[in-house]
Amino acid sequence: MGISAEAQEEEKVLTVEKRWTLSDFDIGKPLGRGKFGHVYLAREKKSNRIVALKVLFKSQLKQSQVEHQLRREVEIQSHLRHPNILHLYGYFYDQSRVYLILEYAAKGELYKELQKCKYFSERRAATYVASLARALIYLHGKHVIHRDIKPENLLIGVQGELNIADFGWSVHTFGRRQTMCGTLDYLPPEMVESVEHDASVDIWSLGVLCYEFLYGVPPFEAKEHSDTYRRIIKVDLKFPPKPVVSSAAKELIGQMLVKDSSRRLPLHKLLEHPWILQNADPSGIYRG
Ligand code: ATP
Ligand code: MG
Repeated sequence: MGISAEAQEEEKVLTVEKRWTLSDFDIGKPLGRGKFGHVYLAREKKSNRIVALKVLFKSQLKQSQVEHQLRREVEIQSHLRHPNILHLYGYFYDQSRVYLILEYAAKGELYKELQKCKYFSERRAATYVASLARALIYLHGKHVIHRDIKPENLLIGVQGELNIADFGWSVHTFGRRQTMCGTLDYLPPEMVESVEHDASVDIWSLGVLCYEFLYGVPPFEAKEHSDTYRRIIKVDLKFPPKPVVSSAAKELIGQMLVKDSSRRLPLHKLLEHPWILQNADPSGIYRG
């Protein structure tokens, strides 16, 4: 993706080490709400750049004891530069709030798109999966594991490019790893069982996501939490007859959803898989 000189200049203006304050921005419409605050469309006055300003309340962060998680999220995300990773330009705070200055993803949540369409075409699914694989290769090369790849954490940019957002569960692979709580649907067996895991957890989640893109529901969904748990542990993978999905796609999913984490299809091999080569748009952008 070509970045104009002008955009690069804007980028520099925003990325330069600077003490931001709220008065540097014009605040626009609300874009959404999260657990800990609200996200607004905003314009940085000097550069005229449109951004998303995420406003988090310190009191709520403290109450839920997630300050260290936020700090880690900011530290990790601000050092990443990739066309499929939502850019964090910077942050600032005042007495009661923390503000994150984020790249604006004009087309919103992938989750909503998937709800609207029920499921994606193979071209669309493959284009997204390839973009995510490239972003994850970049992340893993920097020793970062995302650990929370799911439709709610993917935002679509103005050109239709997919962006990984929300690094709240990501870790640098140095040091001790932690387990997590929340939805089980995207977790691989070794994380459900709380044993040590590594970057291949993201390959598993990508397999779950690929399935969900094509079928509209995650593969191990069940009414009860405990049944999802059991299905993940057993890798109880079934492909329903409808919607019709090519055998190449099913084969690829089967190669990612492997219990033994060391035998999951490496991401660079995924990019060479016939299903990806035949279906993914080489530009990395799904144009509808
Ligand atoms: P939760 O933990 O509940 O997911 P959160 O604190 O992580 O919440 P976000 O998911 O980051 O909050 O943001 C809430 C909503 O705001 C998103 O679901 C999305 O609709 C919108 N939003 C967030 N960031 C952006 C962005 N950069 N561009 C456009 N919309 C955004
Ligand atoms: Mg979120």
